Amino acid sequence: MGFADGAEREKSLDAGLRVVRAYLESPEALKAKPVGVEVYLSESIPGLPVPLAGVIDLVQADLSPVDFKSAASRPDPDQAAFENELQLVSYQLLIEATAGRTPPSLDLVFLVKTKAPQVIRVKVPPAEDARKDRAVAMLNAAVDGIAEKRFHPAPGMQCSWCGYRQECMLWEVEEIWGLIMLPLLLLAACHRAATDPPPYIPPPTDTTPIGGGLSVIGLGIVVAAVVVALGDALRGSGKGGERDG
Ligand code: SF4
Repeated sequence: MGFADGAEREKSLDAGLRVVRAYLESPEALKAKPVGVEVYLSESIPGLPVPLAGVIDLVQADLSPVDFKSAASRPDPDQAAFENELQLVSYQLLIEATAGRTPPSLDLVFLVKTKAPQVIRVKVPPAEDARKDRAVAMLNAAVDGIAEKRFHPAPGMQCSWCGYRQECMLWEVEEIWGLIMLPLLLLAACHRAATDPPPYIPPPTDTTPIGGGLSVIGLGIVVAAVVVALGDALRGSGKGGERDG
């Protein structure tokens, strides 16, 4: 992270130290030796076509995973649980697959950077089957999206610290351009097919009506033109999409 000057660096360092001191002096500080910190796990999970992998900030002695968050203000527990559901249930799936036991809770510890720093623990109950199925379905949707290169912008609060905002805007432009162009190309192709004089074709040797035959040929040309235009537009938007974070 870059700082504008030394004073800003000192200010950030001081704020960080105050938050860490608040954690160490709080009831939420570790009391027992943990299973591990920065615990990397990778496991096959039923229903997922690829291994699930993650790095858990802290796994407590009772197997509860803990994720530390920094926050500018005091979090709303329900909102925090909702926003972090996929992450926490993924940790539970990993711990269950590794240890064969369900952790008693899934925890978030917020280090709140208010003037007097606060440390807030949000304890989320472990997921039952329905929540686990939901998480696996969400992960599958992500896997499908990656496999099919569906990297559309998904604006949210994360955009405020995203390093790809300019690229993201370019992706939108290309995508919108494609969406505008496709109907226009379709209309133009249909118009041409309806108004252009048909090319000369020798008289048929069978009894197929000429008009019907030309209509089929014209429709074939229109369909081919639209397929080519669609392919070009999708290839164009695909290139832009690969830049998304
Ligand atoms: S790529 Fe960045 S700016 Fe674009 S939607 Fe995602 S987080 Fe927001």
